[in-house]
Amino acid sequence: MDYRERLIVKPGTHVKLADIDPGFHGRHESHEKAVPDLEATLDDITGLQELLYAEKKHALLIVLQGIDAAGKDGVCWHVIRAMNPQGTNVSGFKQPSAEERAHDFLWRIHKKVPGLGQVGVFNRSHYEDVLVVRVHDLAPKAAWEKRYEAINAFESGLTDSGVTIVKFFLYISKEEQLERFRKRLDDPDRQWKISAADYAERERWDDYVAAYEAMLSKCSTQNAPWYVIPSNHKWFRNLAASQIILETLKAMDLKAPEPTVDIDEIRKKYHQAKKEG
Ligand code: AMP
Ligand code: MG
Repeated sequence: MDYRERLIVKPGTHVKLADIDPGFHGRHESHEKAVPDLEATLDDITGLQELLYAEKKHALLIVLQGIDAAGKDGVCWHVIRAMNPQGTNVSGFKQPSAEERAHDFLWRIHKKVPGLGQVGVFNRSHYEDVLVVRVHDLAPKAAWEKRYEAINAFESGLTDSGVTIVKFFLYISKEEQLERFRKRLDDPDRQWKISAADYAERERWDDYVAAYEAMLSKCSTQNAPWYVIPSNHKWFRNLAASQIILETLKAMDLKAPEPTVDIDEIRKKYHQAKKEG
């Protein structure tokens, strides 16, 4: 199945998350059964990222959003492990610093956009400025309301300069989030991931759902589509995200660049050198 088709938010649709099943797992029944497809997908990504890096005509930006424990860190790790580290960069966006707050909300974002030949992953992004900011009234409504359009214009400009954008909203259920919080509490190696804010944010679940729905409905564009990734099953999340990234890379029609030297001449030099030992 092409998960790109199945999971994309078609531009102009009004998204209701209640209509989407976060436990969806396609035709695969279990983690074990999905592994061969996942590994094959990651292998293909490895090859295409190498071409993207060599050709330097395109950049790929992967944007990750989702509530706490939805799996943003997990996707970073799983997808990026298929790629040559020289051609990738992961940027996390936390509460803005004083300097960042003194600038427009896209200032810190723009600096982290991947250049041609590079893959960039945003672990949180400019969308925080219509999510946490909206939910917590960190800016007046009149200010954040205008940002949806500003974001669409910004992303459209990036597309025009060679950046292909895919955006993943990792969607888990409220029960699944609590279960993941429990696992973190019970596992000394992962207790560091817990923050008191997680529970405060959880209390705003419905406000977040409204903010996510607005983001998905207003900012899924032809250039820069949103995908809702059902993420209750981590293995399905990784598989779906990887397959969409692979299909996106394939659609770029990447080619190895022409050699910069005369290969026949160089071959002669090689044979000469071999003869001389
Ligand atoms: P984490 O990614 O779990 O380490 O947490 C980072 C925190 O920074 C989250 O609570 C985000 O909501 C918050 N954050 C990210 N961007 C912004 C922003 N533009 N304004 C306010 N808070 C933000
Ligand atoms: Mg967190």
